Amino acid sequence: MVLQMATRRAMSSLLNRSFRLLGGRGAGLASGSQRFGTAAALDEPITPPVEVKYTKLLINGQFVDSASGKTFPTLDPRTGEVIAHVSEGDTEDINRAVASARKAFDEGPWPRMTGYERSRILNRFADLIDKHSDELAGLETWDNGKPYEQSALAEVPTLSRLFRYYAGWSDKIHGLVVPADGPHHVQVLHEPIGVAGQIIPWNFPLLMFAWKVGPALACGNTIVLKSAEQTPLTALYAAKLLHEAGLPDGVLNVISGYGPTAGAALANHMDVDKLAFTGSTETGKIVLELAARSNLKPVTLELGGKSPMIILDDADVDKAVELAHFALFFNQGQCCCAGSRTFVHERVYDEFVEKAKARALRRVVGDPFKKGVEQGPQIDDEQFSKVMRYIKSGVNSGATLESGGDRIGNKGYYIQPTIFSNVKDEMEIAKDEIFGPVQSILKFKDIDEVIRRANATHYGLAAGVFTSNIDKANTLTRALRAGTVWVNCFDVFDAAIPFGGYKMSGQGREKGIDSLKNYLQIKAVVTSLKNPAWL
Ligand code: ADP
Ligand code: MG
Repeated sequence: MVLQMATRRAMSSLLNRSFRLLGGRGAGLASGSQRFGTAAALDEPITPPVEVKYTKLLINGQFVDSASGKTFPTLDPRTGEVIAHVSEGDTEDINRAVASARKAFDEGPWPRMTGYERSRILNRFADLIDKHSDELAGLETWDNGKPYEQSALAEVPTLSRLFRYYAGWSDKIHGLVVPADGPHHVQVLHEPIGVAGQIIPWNFPLLMFAWKVGPALACGNTIVLKSAEQTPLTALYAAKLLHEAGLPDGVLNVISGYGPTAGAALANHMDVDKLAFTGSTETGKIVLELAARSNLKPVTLELGGKSPMIILDDADVDKAVELAHFALFFNQGQCCCAGSRTFVHERVYDEFVEKAKARALRRVVGDPFKKGVEQGPQIDDEQFSKVMRYIKSGVNSGATLESGGDRIGNKGYYIQPTIFSNVKDEMEIAKDEIFGPVQSILKFKDIDEVIRRANATHYGLAAGVFTSNIDKANTLTRALRAGTVWVNCFDVFDAAIPFGGYKMSGQGREKGIDSLKNYLQIKAVVTSLKNPAWL
């Protein structure tokens, strides 16, 4: 038992630094899962090792039905079958939740307690996450379809790590005293901004919960969070644990429900002081407009991407293939920062394509609860159909389909790891965010050319560079217009590293010191000094 825990700890610390291991070639072929090239049907789904406990809305510290009494089903991506019926929030529920958050902000203890007291509650929450990690990981995989090993060994430990990071900030947030041209004592106070509205997506439900809730709570704000309709379960479970840790009622309210109803009501609300959103660029524009038309609440947006992964000619091709494979296929390709344009230097291009294909054929796809599975199903029918449409578009536009291109099994949303070579910049598959297991490999000749092509997109979320040439690496990291550039690594998400987009990939940054700014109001206090002689 002790040995097992030690191994788990060691693994989770590794995975915290990077999710790399998950794509490792060491993964054995789990029984019933398949290397996708074979046509075998998938086995019957494994019974998830967890039960669903919370399905109601969380308002003012209580689980309650929605005002309408309506519910909606959350589905198992492995089968499309119903996991549970969850209370469906709409405008009236958002109003109740905002009123509760308002009261907790205006009258409650949370913004008034010391930073140290807040940090103690956030640290207790992190301990409870670790204690309940099996349930959290089980729910996350069941609702989302991602491999259980990824949930358990990477995401849940990252969740507690993020809350410990923000617990550390709680008692270190302070303003400044600044000099002025005159007999004035000038203080710049950093105050919580008020009621934060937060809308999160389905691809990393727990991590998005942490990126939003962590900084808002550290700064003393209150929150109404709307989870994604595809994955409502873990936010409710985590919020319950946060209350167990001592969070006062009304500080965090969680509303499950759909975007155009509950989400829009939150973005549009006159009594919400700040909005944070992660999702598609299209929806980002809608919520920004709602925020502007209502009360001009400031908005942070983390949106889509079409990130380049650039392999230079000095690359060790085997390593480059593995990294580019991970950069694209991780999380079923459902990452806003997925390295979805693999640019490979012409000198190593053919070898790269051949090896990338072999790697994709080795990828273990299957029931995400099975050990060793690297890829589960896509989240839902809509995303599945969208990815399949893009695969067709790739074939029709003349790209070479090297591997995959089809679904796996006849139930649920499994897609074969798919690779296109000879992809041209103007093809739809090279321009649009596919959000699925489809790798597009493009050829380039020189560095200036690849910089121009990599930047020729409306997106600017992330980029990857693979080289051991320091000068070329420096040139690329400076020239690429993206919020994150990973050199010889990808998807490294430390709590202290800021994340966010250039251009249409977003506004503002999450994680790291910059994330606190999103949740602070700045107040200048200017006091006249009676005795200017002391200036
Ligand atoms: P995706 O297309 O990947 O599901 P979305 O941007 O549609 O991404 O969804 C991200 C989050 O935004 C989800 O919580 C969703 O419910 C919410 N959402 C969708 N449409 C709207 C909207 N019109 N107003 C507010 N929130 C929305
Ligand atoms: Mg679901």
